[in-house]
Amino acid sequence: MNLNMERTEAVSIIQKKRRVIMVVCLLTIIVLMALFITLKINNDKKGKVNAASVTKQHVNSSKDKKNNAAEKKHEEISTKSLMKQDGKKIVYLTFDDGPSDNVTPQILDILNKYNVKATFFVIGKNAEKYPDIIKKEFEEGNLIGNHSYSHQSMKSRPNYIYSSPENFVGEIEKCNSVLKSILGDDYNIKLVRFPGGAFPESSSPAYKGLEPVREAVKKDGYDFVDWNSETGDAEGSLVSVDKLYANYKKNSQGKSHLIILMHDAGAKKTTPEVLPLIIEDLKKQGYEFKTIE
Ligand SMILES: [Zn+2]
Repeated sequence: MNLNMERTEAVSIIQKKRRVIMVVCLLTIIVLMALFITLKINNDKKGKVNAASVTKQHVNSSKDKKNNAAEKKHEEISTKSLMKQDGKKIVYLTFDDGPSDNVTPQILDILNKYNVKATFFVIGKNAEKYPDIIKKEFEEGNLIGNHSYSHQSMKSRPNYIYSSPENFVGEIEKCNSVLKSILGDDYNIKLVRFPGGAFPESSSPAYKGLEPVREAVKKDGYDFVDWNSETGDAEGSLVSVDKLYANYKKNSQGKSHLIILMHDAGAKKTTPEVLPLIIEDLKKQGYEFKTIE
């Protein structure tokens, strides 16, 4: 009997122990699960915070880019700023009045042969005629600037484009639309060369009278650039190569920064002939070729 009671007691003790172990196990599982859930929630939160901060960074960086672009825009491009004396020899080859289907392709071949880039100030209505040449100029790393839509020079004043600041800005905007339609909306070069030049520092009454036009162009977000050397190819349709070269030498003498004015209109057939001589001379003198930007 005693033995039986002892056995029963022993069994119940074992059962109690088992129950305690089970409870402890259950509690441990519950605690572990609770821990796991808490950790997961925290991680998710962290992930969201990180994602948010990445988004914020992204927004900030695109904001920075926008600010930089805005700052860059405030860094005004002008003939003066390009002429700064920094001990370097820099040349900007510029070609106005194109594109043409005879002269411009020759100019491009020469630029490619010498591996130099240039700035083309194109006339909107010529760009409409030869969009493929505009694309080629652009794709080959040259800069395309705005030379108005219809191009009437200062010499023929009074004329439509210079008769009011609004007319001139309209001409620039029209040329810009043509260039965007050819090169895509990414084309965003807001650089103008005035037909006949803008020359804000000139004391001549004609240029002084252009002040409202210059102001309007700047207000519209454009910069403009003139030149400080030229080959004189505008003086006639077939100025001899010798004369063009002599003009270039005379006008470039002693200038460490050069903005050379040339033309790639269809009539300027001697310009592609003199260009290799000019490039070779500039290279020999150690000039670095740049586009205006
Ligand atoms: Zn012109």
